[in-house]
Amino acid sequence: MKQDLPKTFSELKLIEPLKQALIEAGYTHPTPIQAEAIPSLLAGHDLLGCAQTGTGKTAAFALPILHRLVETNNKALPRHTRVLVLTPTRELAIQVHESFATYGKNLKLKYAVVFGGVGQSPQVKALSGGVDVLVATPGRLMDLIDQGFIKLTGLEVFVLDEADRMLDMGFIHDIKKILKFLPAKRHNLFFSATMPPVIEKLAQTILVKPVRIEVTPVSSTAELITQYVMFVDRENKRVLLNHILTDQNMKRVIVFSRTKHGANKIADFLEKNGIISEAIHGNKSQSARQRALENFKSGKTRVLIATDIAARGIDVDEITHVINYDLPNESESYVHRIGRTARAGASGVAISFCDSEEKAFLKEIEKLIGKSIQVVKDQPYHSEKVVEARLMSASKAKALIDGENTLKTRNPHRRNPRNNQRSVKNSSPKKQHANKGNS
Ligand code: AMP
Repeated sequence: MKQDLPKTFSELKLIEPLKQALIEAGYTHPTPIQAEAIPSLLAGHDLLGCAQTGTGKTAAFALPILHRLVETNNKALPRHTRVLVLTPTRELAIQVHESFATYGKNLKLKYAVVFGGVGQSPQVKALSGGVDVLVATPGRLMDLIDQGFIKLTGLEVFVLDEADRMLDMGFIHDIKKILKFLPAKRHNLFFSATMPPVIEKLAQTILVKPVRIEVTPVSSTAELITQYVMFVDRENKRVLLNHILTDQNMKRVIVFSRTKHGANKIADFLEKNGIISEAIHGNKSQSARQRALENFKSGKTRVLIATDIAARGIDVDEITHVINYDLPNESESYVHRIGRTARAGASGVAISFCDSEEKAFLKEIEKLIGKSIQVVKDQPYHSEKVVEARLMSASKAKALIDGENTLKTRNPHRRNPRNNQRSVKNSSPKKQHANKGNS
């Protein structure tokens, strides 16, 4: 019952070494998901959590898991783990592992993290003696299972984090395979920012009589953030970006690009104009991504250019501005993106660039957040052409934009599977549309 929720950490029945670690971390009050989830998890219930990063969900599951590990006091066998946390991205895996290590610093437990894109030897070595908590991305975990370096028999707790993103990233088959290795009797936790039917179905196959907790529904997180949209022709986006970044109040900025290639191009352009920025995306090596994040966290780099997937799980406080260089075609991604700012109750600003095609996405986003986003006309690249451009359906806009990206990156003679247009230079479907729409 919500009215009986604990208001301070001292009211939660967590073991002393955990309470001590929380004091050292400066946490005094549990966030809503922590207040709701921790008592249920301590009681051993399965959990279905509808929550996104920024709500404190990692501590909501890590604290009671650590508490129960100490209470049951089993010993992990060599090449075994007692807890498995699956996350979709390496960055999130690293963060979750760090959280376990922070909250569990006063405990005699072993924590390990495994993810792809780096050599596996140190990971194999870390697992050899057995660990209490293993945080893993699905692909690398499957590789290690196949080679016999990790066994999931005897697992006590299974956590699936960011299930919706797992699905988006095509990990569903790996997850189903991993599930087959898990013992039938286990404690299950399942988190997802959104709960479309396919995710509900997956949750049903994993959880037994779960407690369901929903915090900060995706459509309401946007309320703390001041949001603006700037109508601009596509070719002027980069000069507009350069222009607005001259404002020194923009102290720590994430710029979202739809593609990895686009992210690199933006970073190059800014650099040429004397603005220190770095791109972070899946084509960069793990060490380059970590370095970029560290530089951003320390303030060395003022502007980080990211794709949606790379940005997922980036947990950097005091991001003052989020800029959507490209508007996402999934409205929920918009909410995730702008949620990078205004964390922990701070305020933040999100500015979205919108070209003619993207007006379709803007409309969907405004529908999701339940309000219209203020248009800034007072900027040198404001485009009345975009204002007047005909609104098309979001699916058509996506096909046109994907078609154009395909043109840039693929064999020009292959068919674009999305719109079945032959990708030949100068016959861009987008250009055809733009001509029609503006005539
Ligand atoms: P998460 O949603 O797990 O990614 O957590 C978001 C951020 O909130 C992280 O930087 C945590 O360290 C921080 N955090 C989590 N719980 C609390 C709390 N109860 N009090 C203060 N900060 C917290």
